[in-house]
Amino acid sequence: MNQCCIKKPVFTLTGKEKLCKSHFLAYFEKKVRKTIRIHKLIDKKENILVAVSGGKDSTVVLYLLHKIINNKKINIEALHIDQSIGNYSRENKKNIRNFCKKYKIKLHETSFRKEFGYSLCYMKSTLKSKGINLKSCSICGILRRYIVNKTAKKLKSTKVVTGHNLDDEAQSVVMNIFKNNIPLLSRLGPKTGLVEDKKFIPRIKPLYFCTEEEVILYCKLMNFDINLEPCPCSLEAYRRSVLNMLDDFENKNTGTKYGIIQSFLEIKPFLKYRGTINACKKCGEAAAKDICSSCKLIENLKK
Ligand code: AMP
Ligand code: ZN
Repeated sequence: MNQCCIKKPVFTLTGKEKLCKSHFLAYFEKKVRKTIRIHKLIDKKENILVAVSGGKDSTVVLYLLHKIINNKKINIEALHIDQSIGNYSRENKKNIRNFCKKYKIKLHETSFRKEFGYSLCYMKSTLKSKGINLKSCSICGILRRYIVNKTAKKLKSTKVVTGHNLDDEAQSVVMNIFKNNIPLLSRLGPKTGLVEDKKFIPRIKPLYFCTEEEVILYCKLMNFDINLEPCPCSLEAYRRSVLNMLDDFENKNTGTKYGIIQSFLEIKPFLKYRGTINACKKCGEAAAKDICSSCKLIENLKK
């Protein structure tokens, strides 16, 4: 087994080479730089908005963009949405506030209560009483996307960054195949599928090739103040089963998740969504019909 240097190893690469702390940090950062370069995620002049939960992935991506990008023509700001999920939200908010203060990053803050007048729990039960039975995760995801898009437009952002990692993306690829949802599948990737369309602000995922395990290790080695507990609302059951299945496969066959992502990227050019994607009549975001799923959900809440 190879070892990169004489220092204590903290991580083993797929090829069995062992890395010490400083070599692991360098390896991780190099991978993110390469993703940004190869997939042309960031141009020479940008106004970037990073959507930050206060959790590990988005904090790491914010830190690395702040560290890597040394160009006065690229502005990086962050947006945090408080979902009012008890202690979990309070701790995440505290952590991301401290983080942004430490690194002098402008942090925009809003909340479900401020934007919609209600907490996530309340919205879930209101929708249920109207016969709309959606999981907390689905409601939260739809409403967060709406707020992020609205804020990005207000701030004239040129890119929105999220902390999605390789594990998240491999799960999404498999889920969309299992559900035969080719339109959604075709829109995955390190840069959103709608980048060609000037109406939509591109979303980018610089941690696209970083595994969950690598992100957690990076956080720990960097001593970031981060709550590593999952959201108490937790993942929807379907995603959780796919996650468990992929973890099981990965343990028995190293490289499975990477294989899924790489295969997807190779077939993506052939998946170009042929249907029309409309701009939502209410908010202007991507919509399969006249009105996008966020606006429909908000309409139902207000009814
Ligand atoms: P999730 O859907 O929880 O896997 O989150 C996906 C991405 O959405 C994260 O990596 C963040 O970039 C962003 N995000 C999640 N929660 C929040 C939040 N409360 N405020 C702002 N952005 C968020
Ligand atoms: Zn809309």
